Amino acid sequence: MKYVQVIVDLSAEALDRVFSYIVPEGMDVAPGQLVAVPFGPRTVEGFVVSLSEACDVPPEKLKPLIRPVRAEPVVMPDLMALAEWMHVRYLCNLVDALRLMLPPEMRGGRIHEKTQRRARLALSGEALEAFVEQNRRAPKQLEVIEVLRGGDVETAKLNGAALQGLVKKGAVEIYEGQTRRTPRALADDRRTADPEPMPEQAAAVERLTAALESGGGRFLLHGVTGSGKTEVYIRLIRRALELGRTAIVLVPEIALTPQMVAWLHSRFGGDAAVLHSALSAGERFDEWRRIRSGEARVVIGARSAIFAPLEHIGVIVVDEEHETTYQSDRRPRYDAREVAWKRAAQHGAVLVLGSATPSVSTYMRAMPGVRPENRLELIELRQRVKGRPLPEVEIVDMRGEFERGNRSIFSARLAAELRRCLDEGHQAMLFINRRGHSTFVSCRACGYVVRCDQCDVTMTWHQAENALRCHYCGKTLPPPKQCPQCGSGYIKYFGAGTQKVQEEVRRLFPDARVARMDVDTTREKDAHARILGRFRSGEVNVLVGTQMIAKGLDFPNVALVGVVAADLSLNLPDYRSVERTFQLVTQVAGRAGRAEVPGRVIVQTYDPDHYGIRLAAAQDYRAFYTRESAYRRQAMYPPFTVIARIVYSGRDEGAVKAAALADEARLGAFLDETGARADAIQLAATEAPIRQIRGDYRWQLLVKLYFKADMDAVEARMQALADAAPEGVRGELEVNPNSLV
Ligand code: ADP
Ligand code: ZN
Ligand code: ZN
Repeated sequence: MKYVQVIVDLSAEALDRVFSYIVPEGMDVAPGQLVAVPFGPRTVEGFVVSLSEACDVPPEKLKPLIRPVRAEPVVMPDLMALAEWMHVRYLCNLVDALRLMLPPEMRGGRIHEKTQRRARLALSGEALEAFVEQNRRAPKQLEVIEVLRGGDVETAKLNGAALQGLVKKGAVEIYEGQTRRTPRALADDRRTADPEPMPEQAAAVERLTAALESGGGRFLLHGVTGSGKTEVYIRLIRRALELGRTAIVLVPEIALTPQMVAWLHSRFGGDAAVLHSALSAGERFDEWRRIRSGEARVVIGARSAIFAPLEHIGVIVVDEEHETTYQSDRRPRYDAREVAWKRAAQHGAVLVLGSATPSVSTYMRAMPGVRPENRLELIELRQRVKGRPLPEVEIVDMRGEFERGNRSIFSARLAAELRRCLDEGHQAMLFINRRGHSTFVSCRACGYVVRCDQCDVTMTWHQAENALRCHYCGKTLPPPKQCPQCGSGYIKYFGAGTQKVQEEVRRLFPDARVARMDVDTTREKDAHARILGRFRSGEVNVLVGTQMIAKGLDFPNVALVGVVAADLSLNLPDYRSVERTFQLVTQVAGRAGRAEVPGRVIVQTYDPDHYGIRLAAAQDYRAFYTRESAYRRQAMYPPFTVIARIVYSGRDEGAVKAAALADEARLGAFLDETGARADAIQLAATEAPIRQIRGDYRWQLLVKLYFKADMDAVEARMQALADAAPEGVRGELEVNPNSLV
């Protein structure tokens, strides 16, 4: 008798184990296959994890599995092993990890290959020519023959009567063929030639290919903005393909990196596949199959593309590795960079983390003194391509502007430079890290500020709909005419966002053609591509935007970049706020002067001496790292510790608080009993920085762990506490989360 062990595709703590089934005589199953099994009174799907000849459960208690859902295994052995590793590392159910390994629509049999009837020639050579001679009097049929000489065609595109006649005569046959839905980004089929590499690029490629040819390696490619990192990836990947290996390129967000996709596609053509959540279900499924079958060997995608079903991986690139999108904020809370590390090790591949502004945690791993198993080798590109200079960055102190009576959101310098840029026929990008119009609406008489009654945050005024909107829950309200608290009519709108900046440009420069890119203008599918396309073509000459315009965009005609309010991200309640500010300012500045047009950058701030701003303006990453890591060490923040936090949330504030306080005591006892206390700092349970979101009250329990601590044990204990939160309270464990709100 043969047995299979199956993980059922249902999420529940209690089901996080394998169930055994009997394999019916004559049925072939393999690990990684999706199968239908009886489960109680229901039929559910499950993943086969292993096969065995024996089973500890008596056979009469076992049921036979029903059938395979798909003929071929969907989870390959290395991905199965990866899922098991994630199960341990991220304390998630095995099924939650397995679900990441295939397109969601493949489960539950919701999607299938799209087939169509196609026609092809059944004759060739002399037989075909003879047939043509004999049928001179059937011109319609000969037309079809001519079309089919160029390749197979869908029957729907051919003359039906002529086709039938040809089939009867045996000259043409009809078959069921599969078609593929091609994602838009890949529809363009141009291939371009390689540019001659710069010396630093060549050296980087040489070091990386040497590693590729000798069993793999892990690298941090730290290259200033415009240093041509993409070219390094492309050459390395090309070598991998020559060696019969494959490659994954992760990007923070596909919609924001259309150029990376276009570049890779123009170099690798049909070898490239793109995987991301904005594809239609059909497109995603077809791309997945193209990868699975070995047809596509270079996969580009956001976070989850790290699970692409490739074999013989030679290269994994994580571009813009500092971006927060690599960390998943739902269960399983995995970090794609860490998974990439693991997967590269499985395959003996080269892992390349690339950035102009590496995260402090990543950079630390490339410094001396790190244990070999945690180490990254540092490769630097210090020069922009073709010896182009880094843009000149000028800091403008906005306090001075205010003293001189300038109430505009643009300093005199920025306004003058914008005028000059437009007069010279160049383009400008204006960056402000906030959507909407004004930050908040408040009463001048009593100081009342309009806040969302469901979330503990101020609401933002959006002019287009003349409404206040909560950026957490989306709730909107009409703006008050009178203060709801004291009744005064002195309601004032403070601060500036993207919309306000756009209007100011229109007001001051009526000849400018302005577009805006933020969450509000990019809700529709392909909106990003449309806005960027208008900017690229020159139809628009001033682009105003949030973080969205800070990422790897390359526009040759941009001569001016303005950072309208550099301090906005500096004062957030998060230990990474300075790092984020440094990254944003450096990245935005890096958008200027990328081709022949020299670039100028103006950074407006009320805090011109802050090291995060000063060093970003100087584009001095190393000095920033030294300063920032000293602060983190002293304040006991990552990467010197690991932060683990349970967030409790629920409708009943009292219950939420009680749960947090009870767990505070339980966790304290655990740390004492296990001796983990020596390497851990447990903070008192408190309200979360944002007290309420979507009506749910929030409390938190936070622990900082030194690396000497038995982290797995503490995290497992915290996960168990979170899972055991009382009725009506949700407990969620986060380890080094992206934000501590
Ligand atoms: P980074 O990602 O490091 O900011 P990119 O990869 O975007 O830089 O490259 C910047 C620009 O330089 C791109 O337009 C790219 O096509 C071009 N480029 C890269 N390498 C070379 C080279 N060796 N010669 C000429 N142009 C290059
Ligand atoms: Zn008031
Ligand atoms: Zn809200």
